[in-house]
Amino acid sequence: MDDTDRKILKELQEDGRASFREISSRIKVSTPTVSSRVQGMTDNGLITGYSVLLNADMLGQTSVATIIEAKPSEIDAVVERIKGEDIVRLIHVLSDSRILCILSFYDQKKYRSFVQSLSRISEIAKMDNSMILRTAKEMPRASLTDESGLHLKCYYCGHPMKDEGVKVKMDGRTHYLCCGVCAKLYKEKYERMKEAARTPAFA
Ligand SMILES: [Zn+2]
Repeated sequence: MDDTDRKILKELQEDGRASFREISSRIKVSTPTVSSRVQGMTDNGLITGYSVLLNADMLGQTSVATIIEAKPSEIDAVVERIKGEDIVRLIHVLSDSRILCILSFYDQKKYRSFVQSLSRISEIAKMDNSMILRTAKEMPRASLTDESGLHLKCYYCGHPMKDEGVKVKMDGRTHYLCCGVCAKLYKEKYERMKEAARTPAFA
């Protein structure tokens, strides 16, 4: 990730609807450069999507910050049980076997029944709920400074990579592998999966 990438991302964080042409004139690079950089950062999974920002306070919802404490070995199980709930808008797994959740809801009954369901999860040792009165600052957690780099994981073995490793282009997408061995094995696996997808299950 270089300065141009960071500049493009900053522009997009500011306005996700900015056109490549607008961004290119603001940061003084060509439109094709912006387009190919955005494509690259989408392919490698850094850009995960585009969405609309809403003023949550205008929706008349209530938000609650919940801190859950559980045994270290049970943290993943607790996260699995709560992450699918609509009412849960954010989950951070913290140090000291704690989980921070932000809940948002319109109906107190929904909140009460969610808290009741948590109290039935035996892995949860302790729980603290505080209503959020106002939000003084809410920024995207992905902060872009000169220190921000890219932490890619090998698509085959999952190990973190220091740089972009071995890039493999297949079907118009870039795949990132840590070394030649992983790249070879990944290509074989990819071809097998494509072959399997082409073969009908019931011949
Ligand atoms: Zn690897």
